[in-house]
Amino acid sequence: MATRARPSGADPRAPVKNCEIILNYDCNARCVFCYQPEDDLKPCSEKRMPFAAASKALYQGYARGCRCAYFIGGEITLLPDLPKIIKLAAKIGYPWIQVMSNGLRLAEKAYTDDLIAAGANLFRLSLHGPSEKIHDRLVGVPGAFARLTAAFDNIKSGGAELCVNMALNKVNYRSLPEMVKLVTGRFGVRDFNIIFPHYSGMMAKNSGLLKVSVGQAVPYLRRTLAYMKKAGVRPESRVLINFCPCNIPEAAHLMAEWDRPSRPEDDEPLYYVEGQTDAVYSVKERIRVKNPSCSRCVYDPVCMGFEKWYADVFGRREFRPVLKKPEPFPLFPLPRRKPAREGGR
Ligand code: SF4
Repeated sequence: MATRARPSGADPRAPVKNCEIILNYDCNARCVFCYQPEDDLKPCSEKRMPFAAASKALYQGYARGCRCAYFIGGEITLLPDLPKIIKLAAKIGYPWIQVMSNGLRLAEKAYTDDLIAAGANLFRLSLHGPSEKIHDRLVGVPGAFARLTAAFDNIKSGGAELCVNMALNKVNYRSLPEMVKLVTGRFGVRDFNIIFPHYSGMMAKNSGLLKVSVGQAVPYLRRTLAYMKKAGVRPESRVLINFCPCNIPEAAHLMAEWDRPSRPEDDEPLYYVEGQTDAVYSVKERIRVKNPSCSRCVYDPVCMGFEKWYADVFGRREFRPVLKKPEPFPLFPLPRRKPAREGGR
């Protein structure tokens, strides 16, 4: 859901709208922290979007001004139609075509090359630990870390851009600085997200084992930001996801998806497998709540609040009004590079 800079034209930091399409729910991993309910993840062809529905969503999204076709699941590399869907997005003219994946299948170089040849130029993969021991345990697949890092190499050698998501939980949050070092050092990634957990689906079910509070995570975030500053790592987008400015006010400028779009038409369309449509930020706002004291916070006019799922697990005490904006931590996102393809084919 991260925003992207424009391919050409005025402000290189201005975001480009995503057309977010959930193509399936089934998955070949067994992540214990998944935000989907367990039943959704089982193999089931009825939980896959037909090609005609994906096509309709892509045309509609483009007509609404979206320029990044963003395909998510489940695990979308399980779909036989995926190369065909990507080809259509390229034909329509999307300058960015983003594939979100756990990376298991992308360890096959020939398959990754096929997706790149079809038109995919951004791959957003998920890393959940700095080592095999932690990553494989969390995703429930032996050998997953080795396959993920092979996928990283395949994407880079294929000439596409590698983006990485890191979702925090009790098992990995202390390893965050190491994970960022791995991603930004060995793999040179500049578009990455550090995601605070959404306490829904499997993550809610397993919260007894996996829960981590904002208060526990923030010291490791601060260490990570300090590392990035010292190492000269400037991210290409706002890297902190599912945080509120009051959690770490000096890093509010590095947070995404906490503030509502200034105009309703800037919200991003979201297409579900079953055919319903929604809008990304509207969905986020519906699952968020605020404290009465939020009315005193300097971020209140634009802040969507915190997830009610979090409040169900930890309560609301950690969300206290910020009365004055602090000096921003001295680390600022870079403008994105231009994509290889500037327009339609
Ligand atoms: S408005 Fe409330 S939730 Fe948002 S940053 Fe301020 S205190 Fe936190």
